[in-house]
Amino acid sequence: MAYLLLVEDDAAVRSALMRTLAERGHAMHSATTGMAGLRAAIDDRPDLVILDLGLPDLDGYEVIRMLRAVSAVPLIVATARDDEEEIARVLDAGADDYLVKPFRAVQLDARIRAVLRRMRGEDDQAQPIVVGELRIDPRSREVTMAGRALDLRPKEFELLVYLATRTGQVVSKRELLTQVWQVPYGGADKTVDVHLSWLRNKLGESAQRPKYVRAVRGVGVKLVDPGR
Ligand code: CA
Repeated sequence: MAYLLLVEDDAAVRSALMRTLAERGHAMHSATTGMAGLRAAIDDRPDLVILDLGLPDLDGYEVIRMLRAVSAVPLIVATARDDEEEIARVLDAGADDYLVKPFRAVQLDARIRAVLRRMRGEDDQAQPIVVGELRIDPRSREVTMAGRALDLRPKEFELLVYLATRTGQVVSKRELLTQVWQVPYGGADKTVDVHLSWLRNKLGESAQRPKYVRAVRGVGVKLVDPGR
Protein backbone atom coordinates (compact mmCIF):
# COMPACT_ATOMS: atom_id res chain seq x y z
CA MET A 1 0.00 0.00 0.00
CA ALA A 2 1.29 3.40 -0.95
CA TYR A 3 0.16 6.99 -1.09
CA LEU A 4 -0.25 7.71 -4.81
CA LEU A 5 -0.78 10.90 -6.75
CA LEU A 6 -2.55 10.46 -10.08
CA VAL A 7 -2.25 13.37 -12.54
CA GLU A 8 -4.82 12.75 -15.27
CA ASP A 9 -7.24 15.13 -17.00
CA ASP A 10 -9.58 12.49 -18.44
CA ALA A 11 -12.38 12.16 -15.89
CA ALA A 12 -13.37 8.63 -16.91
CA VAL A 13 -9.80 7.28 -16.83
CA ARG A 14 -9.12 9.13 -13.59
CA SER A 15 -12.13 7.83 -11.68
CA ALA A 16 -11.60 4.27 -12.92
CA LEU A 17 -7.94 4.25 -11.83
CA MET A 18 -8.70 5.99 -8.53
CA ARG A 19 -11.32 3.38 -7.70
CA THR A 20 -9.33 0.33 -8.77
CA LEU A 21 -6.06 1.39 -7.14
CA ALA A 22 -7.92 2.24 -3.93
CA GLU A 23 -9.47 -1.22 -4.01
CA ARG A 24 -5.97 -2.63 -4.32
CA GLY A 25 -5.05 -0.96 -1.06
CA HIS A 26 -3.49 2.35 -2.11
CA ALA A 27 -4.32 5.74 -0.70
CA MET A 28 -5.22 7.92 -3.66
CA HIS A 29 -5.03 11.58 -4.46
CA SER A 30 -5.53 13.15 -7.88
CA ALA A 31 -4.88 16.29 -9.88
CA THR A 32 -6.27 17.23 -13.28
CA THR A 33 -3.62 19.66 -14.55
CA GLY A 34 0.17 19.72 -14.72
CA MET A 35 0.42 22.70 -12.38
CA ALA A 36 -1.92 21.21 -9.77
CA GLY A 37 -0.05 17.92 -10.10
CA LEU A 38 3.33 19.57 -9.50
CA ARG A 39 1.99 21.40 -6.47
CA ALA A 40 0.50 18.21 -5.02
CA ALA A 41 3.67 16.21 -5.78
CA ILE A 42 5.72 18.72 -3.78
CA ASP A 43 3.28 19.62 -0.98
CA ASP A 44 1.65 16.26 -0.30
CA ARG A 45 4.80 14.10 -0.54
CA PRO A 46 3.21 11.10 -2.29
CA ASP A 47 5.16 7.81 -2.40
CA LEU A 48 4.76 7.76 -6.17
CA VAL A 49 3.31 9.89 -8.97
CA ILE A 50 1.43 8.56 -11.99
CA LEU A 51 1.53 11.17 -14.72
CA ASP A 52 -0.53 11.35 -17.89
CA LEU A 53 1.64 12.98 -20.57
CA GLY A 54 -1.25 14.67 -22.38
CA LEU A 55 -2.40 17.36 -19.97
CA PRO A 56 -4.34 20.51 -20.85
CA ASP A 57 -2.00 23.13 -19.39
CA LEU A 58 1.59 21.89 -19.62
CA ASP A 59 3.56 19.63 -21.90
CA GLY A 60 4.17 16.32 -20.12
CA TYR A 61 7.95 16.57 -20.55
CA GLU A 62 7.85 20.01 -18.99
CA VAL A 63 6.03 18.55 -15.99
CA ILE A 64 8.65 15.79 -15.62
CA ARG A 65 11.49 18.30 -15.96
CA MET A 66 9.98 20.70 -13.40
CA LEU A 67 9.21 17.87 -11.00
CA ARG A 68 12.71 16.40 -11.31
CA ALA A 69 14.25 19.80 -10.57
CA VAL A 70 12.79 19.67 -7.08
CA SER A 71 11.89 16.07 -6.30
CA ALA A 72 13.10 12.50 -6.68
CA VAL A 73 9.63 11.05 -6.10
CA PRO A 74 9.12 7.79 -8.05
CA LEU A 75 7.32 8.58 -11.30
CA ILE A 76 5.40 6.39 -13.72
CA VAL A 77 4.28 8.00 -16.96
CA ALA A 78 1.19 7.01 -18.93
CA THR A 79 1.73 7.73 -22.61
CA ALA A 80 -0.78 7.49 -25.42
CA ARG A 81 1.71 6.37 -28.07
CA ASP A 82 3.72 3.19 -28.27
CA ASP A 83 6.68 4.90 -29.83
CA GLU A 84 10.24 3.99 -28.89
CA GLU A 85 11.52 7.52 -29.29
CA GLU A 86 8.79 8.89 -27.11
CA ILE A 87 9.45 6.29 -24.44
CA ALA A 88 13.19 7.00 -24.52
CA ARG A 89 12.43 10.71 -24.09
CA VAL A 90 10.17 9.98 -21.12
CA LEU A 91 12.81 7.88 -19.39
CA ASP A 92 15.58 10.37 -20.21
CA ALA A 93 13.47 13.15 -18.73
CA GLY A 94 13.47 11.30 -15.42
CA ALA A 95 10.50 8.93 -15.37
CA ASP A 96 11.16 5.63 -13.55
CA ASP A 97 8.80 3.62 -15.73
CA TYR A 98 6.04 4.04 -18.30
CA LEU A 99 2.88 2.39 -19.52
CA VAL A 100 1.24 2.78 -22.90
CA LYS A 101 -2.48 3.55 -22.91
CA PRO A 102 -4.81 1.80 -22.75
CA PHE A 103 -3.62 -0.32 -19.85
CA ARG A 104 -5.37 -2.20 -17.10
CA ALA A 105 -5.18 -1.04 -13.48
CA VAL A 106 -3.67 -4.39 -12.50
CA GLN A 107 -0.73 -3.74 -14.87
CA LEU A 108 -0.27 -0.28 -13.43
CA ASP A 109 -0.40 -1.68 -9.90
CA ALA A 110 2.32 -4.21 -10.75
CA ARG A 111 4.53 -1.40 -12.11
CA ILE A 112 3.85 0.72 -9.04
CA ARG A 113 4.89 -2.07 -6.70
CA ALA A 114 8.02 -2.83 -8.76
CA VAL A 115 9.12 0.83 -8.84
CA LEU A 116 8.54 1.21 -5.09
CA ARG A 117 10.47 -2.00 -4.34
CA ARG A 118 13.33 -0.72 -6.46
CA MET A 119 13.27 2.68 -4.73
CA ARG A 120 13.34 1.06 -1.31
CA GLY A 121 16.36 -0.95 -2.38
CA GLU A 122 14.50 -4.24 -1.97
CA ASP A 123 15.15 -5.23 -5.54
CA ASP A 124 18.02 -7.64 -6.18
CA GLN A 125 19.21 -5.33 -8.92
CA ALA A 126 19.29 -2.27 -6.68
CA GLN A 127 21.32 0.07 -8.84
CA PRO A 128 24.15 2.21 -7.53
CA ILE A 129 23.10 5.79 -6.96
CA VAL A 130 25.31 8.36 -8.65
CA VAL A 131 25.17 12.01 -7.67
CA GLY A 132 27.96 14.05 -9.21
CA GLU A 133 31.23 12.36 -8.24
CA LEU A 134 29.53 10.48 -5.45
CA ARG A 135 28.65 6.85 -6.08
CA ILE A 136 26.66 4.80 -3.58
CA ASP A 137 26.17 1.07 -4.00
CA PRO A 138 23.26 0.00 -1.75
CA ARG A 139 24.05 -3.69 -2.16
CA SER A 140 27.74 -3.70 -1.32
CA ARG A 141 27.30 -0.64 0.94
CA GLU A 142 30.30 0.94 -0.76
CA VAL A 143 30.56 4.67 -1.25
CA THR A 144 33.14 6.36 -3.45
CA MET A 145 33.89 10.02 -4.17
CA ALA A 146 35.62 10.49 -7.51
CA GLY A 147 36.63 6.83 -7.34
CA ARG A 148 38.08 7.05 -3.84
CA ALA A 149 36.40 4.82 -1.23
CA LEU A 150 34.79 6.57 1.73
CA ASP A 151 34.63 4.87 5.09
CA LEU A 152 31.15 5.53 6.46
CA ARG A 153 29.65 4.20 9.67
CA PRO A 154 26.35 2.33 9.25
CA LYS A 155 24.12 5.27 10.23
CA GLU A 156 26.11 7.68 8.08
CA PHE A 157 25.60 5.31 5.17
CA GLU A 158 21.87 4.99 5.81
CA LEU A 159 21.56 8.75 6.14
CA LEU A 160 23.40 9.25 2.85
CA VAL A 161 21.26 6.64 1.05
CA TYR A 162 18.09 8.24 2.41
CA LEU A 163 19.17 11.64 1.07
CA ALA A 164 20.57 10.26 -2.19
CA THR A 165 17.37 8.43 -3.09
CA ARG A 166 15.70 11.83 -2.75
CA THR A 167 18.36 13.94 -4.48
CA GLY A 168 17.27 17.54 -4.82
CA GLN A 169 14.40 17.07 -2.42
CA VAL A 170 14.41 18.80 0.95
CA VAL A 171 14.11 16.36 3.84
CA SER A 172 13.31 17.57 7.35
CA LYS A 173 15.38 16.53 10.35
CA ARG A 174 12.21 15.15 11.87
CA GLU A 175 11.78 12.88 8.84
CA LEU A 176 15.43 11.76 9.03
CA LEU A 177 15.14 10.94 12.70
CA THR A 178 11.92 8.98 12.28
CA GLN A 179 12.93 7.25 9.03
CA VAL A 180 16.67 6.62 9.46
CA TRP A 181 16.81 6.20 13.24
CA GLN A 182 13.19 5.15 13.70
CA VAL A 183 12.83 7.19 16.85
CA PRO A 184 10.27 9.90 17.55
CA TYR A 185 11.39 13.46 17.10
CA GLY A 186 12.23 15.38 20.25
CA GLY A 187 12.84 19.05 19.41
CA ALA A 188 16.26 19.25 21.08
CA ASP A 189 17.65 16.05 19.59
CA LYS A 190 21.07 16.65 18.03
CA THR A 191 21.49 13.12 16.59
CA VAL A 192 20.75 14.20 13.04
CA ASP A 193 22.93 17.32 13.24
CA VAL A 194 25.85 15.34 14.60
CA HIS A 195 25.61 12.67 11.92
CA LEU A 196 25.18 15.27 9.18
CA SER A 197 28.33 16.92 10.40
CA TRP A 198 30.25 13.61 10.35
CA LEU A 199 28.87 12.80 6.92
CA ARG A 200 29.89 16.20 5.57
CA ASN A 201 33.33 15.74 7.01
CA LYS A 202 33.72 12.44 5.15
CA LEU A 203 32.39 13.99 1.95
CA GLY A 204 35.10 16.63 2.29
CA GLU A 205 32.83 19.53 3.09
CA SER A 206 31.38 21.44 6.03
CA ALA A 207 28.27 23.40 6.97
CA GLN A 208 30.24 26.57 6.18
CA ARG A 209 31.47 25.22 2.84
CA PRO A 210 28.69 22.88 1.66
CA LYS A 211 28.93 20.95 -1.58
CA TYR A 212 26.63 17.93 -1.68
CA VAL A 213 24.75 18.39 1.59
CA ARG A 214 22.84 21.65 1.56
CA ALA A 215 20.90 23.04 4.50
CA VAL A 216 17.61 24.70 3.73
CA ARG A 217 17.02 27.10 6.58
CA GLY A 218 14.04 26.25 8.73
CA VAL A 219 13.11 23.26 6.57
CA GLY A 220 15.85 20.65 6.57
CA VAL A 221 18.57 19.40 4.31
CA LYS A 222 18.96 18.07 0.78
CA LEU A 223 21.58 16.29 -1.26
CA VAL A 224 22.51 17.97 -4.52
CA ASP A 225 24.97 17.47 -7.37
CA PRO A 226 27.31 20.45 -6.84
CA GLY A 227 28.42 20.30 -10.49
CA ARG A 228 24.93 21.08 -11.82
CA1 CA B 1 -4.83 13.32 -21.14
